[in-house]
Amino acid sequence: MSMRSYQSDVALRMRSLKGANVQEIGNVKYKSNVYPVFSVRTEKGKKLPEVAVFATIHGDEPAGFHASMEFLESEHDYPFNLTFIPCLNPYGFENDKHENADDVNLNRVFNDNSVQEVNIIKKFLNGNKYLFAVSMHEDKPIVGNGVYPNGKNPNGFYMYELCPRKGDIIGNGIIRELKYQGIEICTKPDIEGWKNEGGILWAPRDRMGKTIEQHMIENHTNHVLNPETLTSWDMQKRVSTQKQVLNSSLEKFYKSQ
Ligand SMILES: [Zn+2]
Repeated sequence: MSMRSYQSDVALRMRSLKGANVQEIGNVKYKSNVYPVFSVRTEKGKKLPEVAVFATIHGDEPAGFHASMEFLESEHDYPFNLTFIPCLNPYGFENDKHENADDVNLNRVFNDNSVQEVNIIKKFLNGNKYLFAVSMHEDKPIVGNGVYPNGKNPNGFYMYELCPRKGDIIGNGIIRELKYQGIEICTKPDIEGWKNEGGILWAPRDRMGKTIEQHMIENHTNHVLNPETLTSWDMQKRVSTQKQVLNSSLEKFYKSQ
């Protein structure tokens, strides 16, 4: 049974966006079901820097999708051209499932062009360069689920930051703003084997495996932010946190231009 409707929750909402260029960049097909994948572009000027925003490559991590849509549905005036793919895994979104319909974790096979979702996204991105990218995820902090042994589950927000030079990290300022708004930041010293430095997990160029984040840093940008909200929080808090990270990163990159 479907948990959500891609048609009404995603497709209709996309098609009613105003002032944005909404495109269908390909169709994901499972038996008789066809899911168009959407990109949304807001262009402020041909010569301005490009920014990419991705969400919901894991279908059971919907906060990034909602944050992207709320951002696009409201006023925003950053001097960047923004390209969103707000729902990378349509079947997973509709069925509240981490993987796609073939039980494939899309963020472990992003090197494999025979996976239809991966192929659609990579074709769309081909040759594009971005000042930075934001790839929104969520974490299910369940103790003893195989991912987190006792005591190892994250107890707050955290963010992977991919950039070759550690000195280029901008996430500490974003974390400060989240803290100021009362958002809990993960205080565990490590998360899944990664060193947690005040909520930031720094990833040099070669650490992210077969993920979209690694694909971006190898081919399209020098900087990727990968925020993780906790699915144990209520949805509004998850969505507003993701939106805050996006707004804050746009401001910080604007100021550093
Ligand atoms: Zn994820």
